[in-house]
Amino acid sequence: MDFQLDLATVLLLYNTSLIAGALSIFHIRRHSCRPQGLAPLATAYLMLAVGAILAWRGESAALPMWMWTHGSLLLGTGGYALFWAGVRGFSGRRRVPWRAVVLLPLACLVVGIATGFPLQNLLRAGAFHATATLVLAVCTFEILRDRRSEPLPSRMLMAAFLGLSGSIYALRLAYILSGTAGSTGFAWAFYVQMFCHFGMALMVAALSNERAEIRLEQAAHTDPLTGTGNRRWLESRLPARLPPQSAVAQLDLDHFKQINDRFGHAVGDRVLVEFARCLQGQLRSSDLLARMGGEEFVVYLPAVTQAEAQAIAERLCAQVALLRIEAQGSPISVTVSIGLAWVHDTGTAADTWFKRADDALYQAKQSGRNQVVLAAGTAAQGA
Ligand code: GH3
Ligand code: MG
Ligand code: MG
Repeated sequence: MDFQLDLATVLLLYNTSLIAGALSIFHIRRHSCRPQGLAPLATAYLMLAVGAILAWRGESAALPMWMWTHGSLLLGTGGYALFWAGVRGFSGRRRVPWRAVVLLPLACLVVGIATGFPLQNLLRAGAFHATATLVLAVCTFEILRDRRSEPLPSRMLMAAFLGLSGSIYALRLAYILSGTAGSTGFAWAFYVQMFCHFGMALMVAALSNERAEIRLEQAAHTDPLTGTGNRRWLESRLPARLPPQSAVAQLDLDHFKQINDRFGHAVGDRVLVEFARCLQGQLRSSDLLARMGGEEFVVYLPAVTQAEAQAIAERLCAQVALLRIEAQGSPISVTVSIGLAWVHDTGTAADTWFKRADDALYQAKQSGRNQVVLAAGTAAQGA
């Protein structure tokens, strides 16, 4: 297929992509709950659009020379400096380096007025392309360096768009420096930039959505009071049949209702938070702790012998008894009862082990509380 890119049309599309990108990003910002970096990013898109329009109108002699040359370079370099601030904030929620963002275009303006270099097309284009190349390389790095802490699929595509955009500017810069820049290449470069601007705006929306989905899933799986997983989270983490040599412990605070009645619900809540923190502090990273409701928690211990499971449960019981929570000037102490079921076969459904642990918990309550009871049928097996 043989077709020609007409520069005026491409510039119109380029500006359209910037304005459409700015509007999209402003819209995402309005509906995002943590929109860090999006206001500078959208403003950067607008500044680049106005800068390009100024240069375009200026070249058709509609404006005084000094105005459109200095103005378009200021908006171009300022737009890209702000672009960096936006990408940096959006990618890793880092602070915006305002001093650098303001200094870069101002330095360019001052040097431009002092030397008059922006009045020459090639020097002005060179300064703009050098700034864009540098900023886009740094932006690609900013996006890639957060890929481990936030490995979302859109991040890599966003880095690809930024990298492509920067590479095109670098290529154009090489042509400008070697004195071989032509208008066809110019049109193609702006065409690819337009594609990158649309892609970037789309990836901002995609990444914001992926973040929102993760937040929703976390909220649905987390107990808001103690921050531990909830019943749904535990169910999502456990197979339908628990592997042998693992254990389930059902925990229930003793006489917790009396704490609420005596000290109030807020103190009761604090006791629950400290209780959960104490349990978590005693567990291995592979163990699972979940709040099933009220003052009832479950601990799942993978890869333990019966003796180890019992020792862990005894330790949890003892550590909870040592807890002291300040309330109305005096320390409150609590105890916990624990029912333990040690998994020794593959044929029994997970629910059955939970039920056995629950029965053992009931026994612990009946036998005076503040103790661990091993479920019937799991004792004296393969310790
Ligand atoms: P037992 O030793 O037999 O377990 O006695 P208990 O008082 O702990 O038993 P019960 O299950 O009757 O009491 C649980 C109490 O936990 C009742 C309820 O008001 C309280 N509770 C449930 N959820 C919360 C919560 O989120 N915060 C507070 N502060 N209290 C809660
Ligand atoms: Mg209870
Ligand atoms: Mg209780």
